[in-house]
Amino acid sequence: MSISNTANELPIKRIAIVGSTGSIGRQALNVIRRHPDSYAVEVLTANTNAELLIEQALEFQPNTVVIADESKYLQVQEALAPHDIKVFAGEESLISVMEMSTIDTVLTAVVGFAGLKPTLRAIEYGKTIALANKETMVVAGEIVTRSAMQKNVPILPVDSEHSAIFQSIVGEWHNPIEKILLTASGGPFFGKDRDFLKTVTIADALHHPNWSMGKKITVDSATLMNKGLEVIEAKWLFDVRPEQIEVVVHPQSVIHSMVQFCDGSIKAQLGLPNMELPIQYALSFPKREADNARRLSFADYPTLTFAKPDTDTFTCLALAYKAIEKGGNMPCIMNAANEVAVAAFLQEKIAFLDIPDTIATMMEKSRFVAKPSLDDLLQTDTETRQLTIDYLNNK
Ligand code: NDP
Repeated sequence: MSISNTANELPIKRIAIVGSTGSIGRQALNVIRRHPDSYAVEVLTANTNAELLIEQALEFQPNTVVIADESKYLQVQEALAPHDIKVFAGEESLISVMEMSTIDTVLTAVVGFAGLKPTLRAIEYGKTIALANKETMVVAGEIVTRSAMQKNVPILPVDSEHSAIFQSIVGEWHNPIEKILLTASGGPFFGKDRDFLKTVTIADALHHPNWSMGKKITVDSATLMNKGLEVIEAKWLFDVRPEQIEVVVHPQSVIHSMVQFCDGSIKAQLGLPNMELPIQYALSFPKREADNARRLSFADYPTLTFAKPDTDTFTCLALAYKAIEKGGNMPCIMNAANEVAVAAFLQEKIAFLDIPDTIATMMEKSRFVAKPSLDDLLQTDTETRQLTIDYLNNK
C-alpha cells in the first residue's frame, strides 16, 4: 500500500527517530506534529526514558518502539499492549530495526558513539540519513561516507552549521568549495581566560547563551570541542581538507555558517537559533516546507560580530584539528576520551579544565592505527574509554 500526501501527491515520508526522547528527537516530533500530511512516525527509540517514549508512542502511534535499557522493557510493553505497536529492547534491537522496509528516513538523534552502529545498518539497508549524531562522522567518517556512496544513500545534515553549508551549496554542485566558514557562538565562556575556567561549575557550563540542547553537547559547546567535532563532521560531509575549514566566532548565532567559492563569493544561511528549521529541512529536502516559525528581524540584531577563536584557552578545538590531520583512529580516540571526560565532569568528578587535559593525554597514550577497519574503531572506542576511566581514577 502506498500512502500519499493529498495536498501535493508526494508520498508521506516514514521516519525512524533514533533517540526520540532527547532534545533533537523531541524537536523533530514538533516538526512532524506540525506537518502530519508530510511525515509518519515509523520507529521511536530511547535509552532509559520509558515514560517519555510511551507518551510519544501513544501520540504518534509508530509501528515499532525500542528501549535500549532492557530493564525497562516490561514497563513499555505493558503500557503499549492495547495498541498495535511492536516493542523491543536492547542495543541489538535498536540496530536491527533499521532494516525495516517501511522506513524511508532515519533521523540519528542519539548522542555519542552509540549512534554509529544504527547509522551504518540504516545505510546498509538504503535509508536516507538525517544526521544529527555528529560523533558518528567524527569516529568513522571515512567508513560511513564510503558505505553511503556505495549504497547511493544521501546523508542530510541536521546540525545547524552543516545545514547552513548544505543550503549554501545547493545549486552549486559543480563549483568547488574554496573555504567553509564554520560559525561558533563561542559558548558561555567566550572571552574568558584559563584562570576563569579553573573554577567554573556544571551549571555555568550548561548555561548556553543561544541554544537549549542535551547536556553533553552543551558542555562540548563550552569547551569548544563541539566546534572541533563539527570541523571533522564538515570535512567528511563536504569532502574538504581541514585547512579549508575556518572557524569564525559569531556570538549572535544568526549566520549559521558560510561557504566561499573560487571567485571569492560567499554564501550564507541565516535564521534565528532554532533547531527545528534544520531538522525540517533535512526531512523535507529537496523541498522546503511552509512553516510559520518566528522570522528573523534584522532590527533585533543591529550588530553582528565576528572574532577568531581563542585556541590557546579553548584547546579542544586545536586538538580536533590535530586529530583529523593525524587521521586513522585518532578522531575516535579523541571522541571516546571526550565522552568519558564530559560524563565525569557532569558527575562532579573532575574540573572543567580537566576535560581538555584528559583528551590530550589520551591522544598521546592510546594505540594509533593508521588505517582502521570498523572493528579497529570499535576496539579503539572500548580501549580508550577504559584507559580514560583508569587515568581519571588514578589522578
Ligand atoms: P540528548 O542527550 O538530549 O538526547 C540523546 C538521545 O539519545 C535520547 O533519546 C537518549 O535516550 C538517547 N540515548 C542516549 N544514549 C543512548 C544509548 N547508549 N543508546 C541508545 N540511545 C541513547 O542529546 P541531543 O538531542 O542534544 O543530541 C543528540 C545528537 O545530536 C548529538 O550527537 C548532538 O551532538 C547532536 N546535535 C544536537 C543539537 C541540539 O540542539 N540538541 C544540535 C546539533 C547536533 P534517553 O532520553 O532515554 O536517555
